[in-house]
Amino acid sequence: MPQRDVNVGFIGLGHMGKPMARNLLQAGYPLVAHNRSRAAVDDLAREGAQPAASAREVAERADVVITMLPDSPDVELVALGPGGIVEGAREGLVVIDMSTILPRASRDIAARLGDQGVVMLDAPVSGGPQGAQAGTLAIMVGGPRDAFDRCLPILEAMGRKIVHIGGNGQGAMAKLCNQVACVLNLVGVAETLVLARRAGLDLGRVLEAVGAGAGSSWMLANQGPKMAARDFAPGFFIRLQQKDLRLVMAAAEEMNLPLLGTALAQQLFRALEAGGEAELGTQAIIKAVERLAALDRPI
Ligand code: NAD
Repeated sequence: MPQRDVNVGFIGLGHMGKPMARNLLQAGYPLVAHNRSRAAVDDLAREGAQPAASAREVAERADVVITMLPDSPDVELVALGPGGIVEGAREGLVVIDMSTILPRASRDIAARLGDQGVVMLDAPVSGGPQGAQAGTLAIMVGGPRDAFDRCLPILEAMGRKIVHIGGNGQGAMAKLCNQVACVLNLVGVAETLVLARRAGLDLGRVLEAVGAGAGSSWMLANQGPKMAARDFAPGFFIRLQQKDLRLVMAAAEEMNLPLLGTALAQQLFRALEAGGEAELGTQAIIKAVERLAALDRPI
């Protein structure tokens, strides 16, 4: 793979960030990497990345800085706080925040970086750690179109479908829309299987038949078999799903928008959290639906 001529910085090497950064290295981008805890930086350094001790140092050494951090306050701190990107930035630096954060927070950070001549794109992703590893993420992008066009090859090293949604914050908002579609599909699959079980049907055969018709979905195909097999190991933690739903509900509240189905999913997940099950995968939502039907007790 030929060496590319854009220096990329990466901050936040967790479940998602580390495999995404690895794909950039494999695509030939010189990479400067930073994380709060050092072990992930050392791992990537062994694969060719240059370690950096702070976000400021990453900004000093990169043309494009990617952040993949937990939540809005983390991105604000890394971008604008002490030792942050803004302290090492120069005119023309591009920041691509790929974390899932509040659209309003993203717009505010973009405006404050813009005051320093830094362009920001919000580019959250869907596809989970599996998609991050395979480089097949869906990436929804907000921010100036010319910066999007320039950064597209970088995003293509991490994702398969990359869509420019609109201005700053609109990628972040599209990700929240994505979460609404995901959780309502999940509730639908859980109720489908609870009905099938109560009626004494074979769950595998129901999934096979429904999955071939208008009731099919990614959730049915991927999470349905796990629900049927009582496999609740996390692909996506309930804890993280709830973080995303809090963002959805905060954004909806700002718009005075009722989202009844999403609220229902949030409450079902909360019932699981209350029972100490926040570290299960989101397919465990079926447990909450079963409990409402007293299906978790012997019949
Ligand atoms: P994670 O907790 O595994 O990783 C976050 C990383 O950021 C950690 O390595 C942490 O050390 C680092 N970090 C935190 N604060 C920092 C700071 N101030 N300076 C430097 N490094 C710091 O989280 P994740 O699962 O990789 O998720 C990252 C983002 O992607 C989140 O916004 C999440 O909602 C979103 N996302 C996650 C998934 C998923 O399935 N895990 C899927 C899509 C989107």
